Amino acid sequence: MSDCIFCKIIAGEIPSKKIYEDDELLAFHDVNPAAPLHFLVIPKKHIPNIMELDEADAPLMGKLLFKGQELAAELGCAEKGARFVINCKSDGGQTVDHIHLHVLGGRRMAWPPG
Ligand code: AMP
Repeated sequence: MSDCIFCKIIAGEIPSKKIYEDDELLAFHDVNPAAPLHFLVIPKKHIPNIMELDEADAPLMGKLLFKGQELAAELGCAEKGARFVINCKSDGGQTVDHIHLHVLGGRRMAWPPG
């Protein structure tokens, strides 16, 4: 999608601190980290939010979640864990309309979120 900031990151038009890339997924550090470790995992397919997933997207989202887990473990969160978050639309606090998994680690998280 031409005006989507994450599609521009996928296309290399906006720089990112890339962690991982394959034909379907990209992971990169969040530009405004909310924890010592804060990265995003996104599908290369432009899906605006979790409410717009099709059943056919289920394998892709499973792969995305598994990659988030793998990278979190590689980046030091295996023992103490991490927070895995997908914000959705306005009530969910979503600001970028391209589905993304936040992975936050390196500190104890509070619950419930504000
Ligand atoms: P959300 O509020 O769930 O939509 O999360 C969007 C996230 O994208 C925020 O944590 C932003 O800091 C992050 N973000 C926005 N622009 C960029 C960028 N150019 N590179 C990396 N992260 C970004």
